[in-house]
Amino acid sequence: MKYLVTGGAGFIGSHLVDRLVEVGEVVVFDNLSSGKEKFIQHHFGKDNFEFINADLLDKDAVQAAMAGVDMVYHIAANPDIRYGIEYTDVDLKQGTIATYNVLESMRLAGIGKIAFSSSSTIYGEPTEVPVPEDYGPSLPISLYGASKLAGEGLISSFASTFDMQVWIYRFANIIGSRGTHGVIFDFIEKLKKNPAELEILGDGSQSKSYLLVQECVDAMIFGVENADENVNVFNLGCDDWINVSRIAEVLVEELPLDDVKFNYTGGDRGWKGDVPKIVLSAAKINTLGWKAGHNSEEAMRKAVKVSIAEYWNQ
Ligand code: NAD
Repeated sequence: MKYLVTGGAGFIGSHLVDRLVEVGEVVVFDNLSSGKEKFIQHHFGKDNFEFINADLLDKDAVQAAMAGVDMVYHIAANPDIRYGIEYTDVDLKQGTIATYNVLESMRLAGIGKIAFSSSSTIYGEPTEVPVPEDYGPSLPISLYGASKLAGEGLISSFASTFDMQVWIYRFANIIGSRGTHGVIFDFIEKLKKNPAELEILGDGSQSKSYLLVQECVDAMIFGVENADENVNVFNLGCDDWINVSRIAEVLVEELPLDDVKFNYTGGDRGWKGDVPKIVLSAAKINTLGWKAGHNSEEAMRKAVKVSIAEYWNQ
């Protein structure tokens, strides 16, 4: 089996690549905008591995990369919801148009399988928590969430119109080694500058569920192997949540640092488009036979330890 992994040099994509090279041929397509060559360098020189440094907005490059591919894992996107506040077309281009380019190139190349990294942000601010996959209407509150929902729509319509089989994964917050953005990374960067104080966006009560990156990748592959509808949609997360203040406490405990003063910016969310509380129902993938091995705080503590090792002394 030959896999094309868009965004394969990124945080989640590179862990997926580590798994897929064990079982098949892998082509990574990444423009290194937020991904890093060092995350995939250990595969350079392998017969079953190829890295294409190119942009998904370059249609010819995407088309060329599809040669001989059996399945696409489309993981590339702008990863940061906050960019959309400043640059209102970034998610349209890196999310929606990039996804269209992938699908159209697949259609032209006759490739029939795609897995997609969507997000809990498609649900907006759901009134039902934990939120199941069939919750509606989906009304995202960020441009990032809008582009994920548009991506899902394009993928499901290509599936119906051109007989593709698709797996759409709505991730909770993914954490762990090689993380380059998100709450742990932000807090470490701030504490490196000033270990006596930590600015916390919002009032600290924002609550979300967290999943280790290796478990996320495990669940994606499990779904592809075990779910056989034409359009398969799964939430990927665990059953509970942790709030931002507790994350700060776990980080301070693990560093360890004493007497860090937490300064809250206030309000119920960190930024416009942030959802104060989101927990995904993982019941559907649990019923299929996959379950997260850690709750949110256990996952957070593991990810914090590994992120300290990776970033604290840099
Ligand atoms: P990441 O930034 O590490 O990975 C994204 C990768 O895509 C990077 O390697 C980047 O260089 C590449 N990329 C971006 N635009 C590109 C383009 N136009 N052409 C080619 N490559 C391009 O982020 P991540 O956290 O690993 O996220 C991976 C996917 O999972 C994204 O689609 C993201 O939206 C989704 N997701 C992540 C989380 C999370 O908690 N990290 C949660 C929900 C969804």
